[in-house]
Amino acid sequence: MSHSDDNDTGERRAATEVVHRGRDPSAQHGFVNPPVYRGSTVLFPTVEELFARRQPYTYGRRSTPTVKALEEAIAAIEGGAVTTLTASGYQAVTTAILAFVESGDHILMVDSVYQPTRAFCDAMLKKLGVETEYYDPLIGQDIARLVRPNTRLIFVESPGSQTMEMQDIPAIAKVAQQKQLWLLMDNTWASPLYFKPFVHGVDVSIQAATKYIVGHADAMLGAITANERAAKYIDRAKETLGTCPGSEETYLGLRGLRTLDVRLERHQKSALEVALWLSARPEVARVMYPALPGDPGHELWQRDFLGATGLFSVVLKTKDAKAVAAMLDGLKLFGMGYSWGGYESLVIPFNPKSYRTATEWPDQGQALRFHIGLDDVRDLLADLEAGFTRLTG
Ligand SMILES: *Cc1c(COP(=O)(O)O)cnc(C)c1O
Repeated sequence: MSHSDDNDTGERRAATEVVHRGRDPSAQHGFVNPPVYRGSTVLFPTVEELFARRQPYTYGRRSTPTVKALEEAIAAIEGGAVTTLTASGYQAVTTAILAFVESGDHILMVDSVYQPTRAFCDAMLKKLGVETEYYDPLIGQDIARLVRPNTRLIFVESPGSQTMEMQDIPAIAKVAQQKQLWLLMDNTWASPLYFKPFVHGVDVSIQAATKYIVGHADAMLGAITANERAAKYIDRAKETLGTCPGSEETYLGLRGLRTLDVRLERHQKSALEVALWLSARPEVARVMYPALPGDPGHELWQRDFLGATGLFSVVLKTKDAKAVAAMLDGLKLFGMGYSWGGYESLVIPFNPKSYRTATEWPDQGQALRFHIGLDDVRDLLADLEAGFTRLTG
């Protein structure tokens, strides 16, 4: 593992790792946090050094000490060999896929994937001559039946964006290994703390660091973490595509990381309370949250995950647009907007029927995605209670 901390015995707990990884006060005059290195040009002392490129830093786009600090921290915490930062989570997705495919290839993409990932496959990959086949998120080991001679990779995201289906990652990883395919995972929901992709056979893990790592809704940032085998492909793609995170954003990622463990603890506790409360409401048809006992993915979540975060969805019994708008427009603590993972609570209506292709969405009612922030959960429940009064009034 390429991190600066020599004392790692592999025994330190995650909460300790997020505090200590990616910083070295003795190298920065004792100051606790690393500085923000802003820079393009890096100077070389001699012609020989210029051509030898032995310096750890050669150009701002390639890396800076700030970037390296966060990359080393994420690699260590998520359990991969090397992390590469990108300007957004979406850029992490596109860079990671482009690292492995070429014209004529076929890829298997989960039907519950983050929608822009689907757009990238349908527009850009298609243009490049790469065929995308969407598969049922619940397929498990049967994914072997979809593998063709030109299949290059399997892409998983668990739980799925918006609809929260749990995938059997170890079963899919087994197929990927047998068929010699790359296994890529969007691991944003669990963060590097609550799912350990490399333990379960994933080759490349993608984080929209914009969400929980930054954690305060104030920066865009992505991370690609690879095992030893996949790392050189990611590095080559990063070089040729010019992928590069911003300096301030990288710093905000490092700063957010320090509190990731405590924030997630609260997100998880509150989300479970709100999800339980919602599941008992007469206005709610079902709640989709794998941490909730009775959820179809609960057993897989218990078996493979170390925790749950603050994001889940529900289906209302009604699909009356006016009633739903009255409920949502009047919420005082839940903001409406895309993205999630910050300290604030959010809600967004969505319609899986509008984008699914491999599977049929069964529900008729309006679907809502909630992000449970760090607010006091009693205030959130009161806000929702008033919302249900508007919904049914
Ligand atoms: C938000 C998100 C992304 C994209 O991240 P950005 O930083 O917004 O580009 C990718 N995957 C998932 C699951 C996301 O929720």
